[in-house]
Amino acid sequence: MKTELNEQYQKLGISEAVLKFGNEILVSLGERFREIDEIAEYNQLKVIHAMQQCKVSEACLLGTTGYGYNDLGRDTLEEVYAKIFHAQDALVRPQITCGTHALALALMSNLRPGDELLSPVGKPYDTLEEVIGIRESRGSLKEYGISYKQVELLPDGSFDYEGIRAALCDKTRLVTIQRSKGYQTRPTLSVTRIGELIRFIKEIRPDIICMVDNCYGEFVETIEPGDVGADMTVGSLIKNPGGGLAPIGGYIAGTKECVENAAYRLTSPGLGKEVGASLGILSSFYQGLFLAPTVTASALKGAVFAANLFERLGFPVIPNGTESRHDIIQAVTFGNPEGVIAFCQGIQAAASVDSFVTPEPWDMPGYDSQVIMAAGAFVSGSSIELSADGPIAPPYAVYFQGGLTWPHAKLGILKALQSLVERGIVSEKDFA
Ligand SMILES: *Cc1c(COP(=O)(O)O)cnc(C)c1O
Repeated sequence: MKTELNEQYQKLGISEAVLKFGNEILVSLGERFREIDEIAEYNQLKVIHAMQQCKVSEACLLGTTGYGYNDLGRDTLEEVYAKIFHAQDALVRPQITCGTHALALALMSNLRPGDELLSPVGKPYDTLEEVIGIRESRGSLKEYGISYKQVELLPDGSFDYEGIRAALCDKTRLVTIQRSKGYQTRPTLSVTRIGELIRFIKEIRPDIICMVDNCYGEFVETIEPGDVGADMTVGSLIKNPGGGLAPIGGYIAGTKECVENAAYRLTSPGLGKEVGASLGILSSFYQGLFLAPTVTASALKGAVFAANLFERLGFPVIPNGTESRHDIIQAVTFGNPEGVIAFCQGIQAAASVDSFVTPEPWDMPGYDSQVIMAAGAFVSGSSIELSADGPIAPPYAVYFQGGLTWPHAKLGILKALQSLVERGIVSEKDFA
């Protein structure tokens, strides 16, 4: 078996030295992988239990057309999400086009002119800069008279509680907390830490809406932001909770009022959640959600493997090889554009779709520097699938995520290393 397996890796362009080094790293990760499997087991049961409690039936897998009144599958799925994310209600729709749209919708529907938005965890994800108006943009919150403040994390990554207290004012209506680091090198927040921050804010101003950008965080831990007091939890279905099967969509799980506001904005005042045909998409939402805990576990194993492998080679990695995980993103800093490009080209070469194309840096809408993206995916742009991207800007870090199955994640990381070796950025002597 071992030689046959090695032959398969050779057919895919992995040298014996790279494979051997990868396998050495894996020997030390048995305990980590067991912990990840245990969380997946817990979350798998959580999802099944929610589906049973909400009486998901075969009829739920069908869809509606036209207005979409009385869409049993859509309404039941929203109940399932509300249970899983510990919320009163949820909006889970194919009409929410991506994560940025879900977040923009949650913000724009729950803020009114004259209100202020606060981010107590530093700069939000790049695409939200234009939503908020940090970078001028047509239709931003700023254009509608909604102001914005931000409090940086302290240099050690902790919350600046005094700064946050000072920033809260009468106008503050909503606080946005991003769980994942996004394209930054700060640590990702655990759900427990998010809970501490929410408690601090609610003690000062219980009426403030606390929203969590949960992108990339779903099912990584056994609890979600709703379990620690978030009023809204928001994310994308082409990341973790879609399980690789959802071809589009986003979700907002939260209080009745917050979700109703979002629904009135998504469709129309007065119509809200009552309309929005699900077409034929629901079985992929249900089945994707069912698979999401184990798919997320595969992606996490890939991230832990990559952290340990590139750390051993001397590259700065965030999180490091031993840290506990709160999202599926792995950052590796190469310090030069060539490393970022070689890594991404290696990931692309490991894909089952579009393995033969070579990604190059480009000016992507919503981002302020060139970005290179490796994504050979069944669902275009899906980042729960094996993918990597990096802005071509200092510190020249690559952000790696996804892998629907662990063997594919492993192959991707080995291909990335192989690509670095072939371009002379890493030498086989470094790990011989
Ligand atoms: C991906 C992501 C978004 C935006 O989602 P898109 O689907 O790419 O629009 C927002 N916030 C965070 C933290 C993300 O990771």
